[in-house]
Amino acid sequence: ILLPIKGKVEFDDVVFEYETEERILDHINFKVNPGDTIALVGATGSGKTTIVNLISRFYDVKNGQIKIDGTDIKTVTLPSLREQMGIMLQDPFIFSGTIMDNIRYGRLDATDEEVIRAAKAVQAHDFIDDLEDGYFTEVNERGTRLSSGQRQLISFARALLADPKILILDEATSSIDTETELALQKGLESLLSGRTSFIIAHRLSTIKNATKIFYIENGRIIEKGTHNEL
Ligand code: ATP
Repeated sequence: ILLPIKGKVEFDDVVFEYETEERILDHINFKVNPGDTIALVGATGSGKTTIVNLISRFYDVKNGQIKIDGTDIKTVTLPSLREQMGIMLQDPFIFSGTIMDNIRYGRLDATDEEVIRAAKAVQAHDFIDDLEDGYFTEVNERGTRLSSGQRQLISFARALLADPKILILDEATSSIDTETELALQKGLESLLSGRTSFIIAHRLSTIKNATKIFYIENGRIIEKGTHNEL
């Protein structure tokens, strides 16, 4: 099993192919320190999603190693790996129930107060508070009544509550109103603090705030640097 981690992530000469046997990742090397925020940028099909899918071990590498805190992730159990990882997709999963339940998902023992504290920390509280029944407002599976930005804020609160050491975020591309956009930007900052994050980044603010940007092209990292350097 993977013991509690600090969040160092290394790719050591990683090569990957899907079943099609076409080379998708070609000798990827990097070392990321605990707490770093990595923005992955690059054209569609360049391999960004594949990189994050390998970190959470949805697939195994063909050659090379992925190490977390020095341990090859191939040698640990999937549950022990995944429980230390938060994965946030572009369109967050909302199930039918209250907002409270939706945030609590993943940390079922959390009290109402803890849920509210998490929501406040990621700037989700204000919009929730404005809803008819606040945290006890019922939403259905498609998250009706919630905008795409609000669904993301809920997923931020959920992730903060679960408190994983490694966070993977596929940032949404959908258009979001200015107010929610600002909440997302600030909320993301508090969510990222103290954990290692890999963000498939679409917002300029995210890219600017990243510790490092990996520019991906054709399955290779062609540049690594900060926003100022690149
Ligand atoms: P996007 O910005 O569109 O999400 P991306 O940079 O995340 O793109 P990937 O999704 O990692 O790119 O895809 C990299 C390459 O792998 C693409 O050529 C894609 O067609 C291919 N690919 C992705 N998933 C599979 C799969 N399950 N089987 C075969 N090929 C795949």
